[in-house]
Amino acid sequence: MAKILTVLYPDPVDGYPPRYARTDIPVITGYPGGQTAPTPQGLDFTPGELVGSVSGELGLRPFLESRGHRLVVTSDKEAPDSVLDLELPDSDVVISQPFWPAYLTPERIERAPRLKLAITAGIGSDHVDLPSAIEHGITVAEITHSNSISVSEHAVMQILALVHNYLPAHEWVTTRRGWNVADSVSRHYDLEGMDVGVLGAGRIGLAVLRRLKPFDVTLHYCDVHRLPPDLEKELGLTWHPDARSLAAAVDVLSIHAPLHAKTVNLFDEELLGSMKRGSYIVNTARALIVDRDAVVRALESGRLAGYAGDVWYPEPPEEDHPWRTMPYEGMTPHVAGSTLSAQARYAAGVREILECWFDSRPIRQEYLIVEGGRLTGTGARSYTV
Ligand code: NAD
Repeated sequence: MAKILTVLYPDPVDGYPPRYARTDIPVITGYPGGQTAPTPQGLDFTPGELVGSVSGELGLRPFLESRGHRLVVTSDKEAPDSVLDLELPDSDVVISQPFWPAYLTPERIERAPRLKLAITAGIGSDHVDLPSAIEHGITVAEITHSNSISVSEHAVMQILALVHNYLPAHEWVTTRRGWNVADSVSRHYDLEGMDVGVLGAGRIGLAVLRRLKPFDVTLHYCDVHRLPPDLEKELGLTWHPDARSLAAAVDVLSIHAPLHAKTVNLFDEELLGSMKRGSYIVNTARALIVDRDAVVRALESGRLAGYAGDVWYPEPPEEDHPWRTMPYEGMTPHVAGSTLSAQARYAAGVREILECWFDSRPIRQEYLIVEGGRLTGTGARSYTV
């Protein structure tokens, strides 16, 4: 019998389950590039349900209990006396989400001698201290591709919202009850003709580039792995060898690299200062890739015309986090990768990984970040430690 500790975001304030806006979601069986969507042997929820919050339990309880395992689900994750900290010492598996991360720090991993598997219900496993996972022989896996298209749609939405000044214009007619056309249009531009770039052209970054192509923009990217020449040609891409070169070339920059040793604090005061006046940044990757206070200063000085995204540090952020009140922002809570559509896929992917784990079958390579004491699979391609 194993104990599975699952940390999920709290239920909706109006109760669970919510009243759903739609009766079903499209069936997605595969992703660009040929990877199939998760293929668990069974599923104990209806795709389209809110399974990502505590009461949804990722739809795992019937499956785990039918096999004699114990499932603990909580949203209480802040040290030192949280449910996470109390339940961790005898847990075999921890499941957590980037949207409400159970930060598996070196100290917490030290206090979890039975822990052998950490699953990210989503994409991005930086909330697990990977060097400690490597040292302690913990397998780290995530549901690669499950929400990549969701995030790419979110990023494109936020790029358009910033450049077209959508949120302030909306505010004029709703909360302000006005009709202020001149105020609304005085920061309102077209994306057409601009130079737009992504940092990280992996699953999400490439999907963003593909979606932006029809907007008649000039596309740029920086990635440690260069894309195939025919793809660069098809999308009209300019490759940049480093973030500095990319940042100086574009009007709009969307960040899609994971958080790891080479990207932490990459967009510091100096790099932000090297961007064109009036640039926009959208960051749906990880907050620590940018310098929090340098972003605020860049918005105040006009170096940045706008900053949007959905990733913060820590999560949830403190009430007086400066990004809540900085000018020209378009922030959301960490939701881009937790659409009801994505939840169906990442919950099914968690189930697939658990089935493999308990049946001693290999976990798909593309799901693996750490295994056997080293970065492997997607981890070896996209992370450094
Ligand atoms: P991916 O592994 O498919 O792609 C990441 C790309 O970044 C790779 O091509 C890699 O080579 C590149 N990269 C790594 N380090 C780099 C560096 N120093 N400079 C330039 N490029 C670099 O991952 P993905 O599925 O596209 O996801 C990317 C990230 O997006 C995740 O790691 C996660 O942090 C974030 N994410 C956020 C949400 C959300 O809800 N906001 C959801 C999913 C993923």
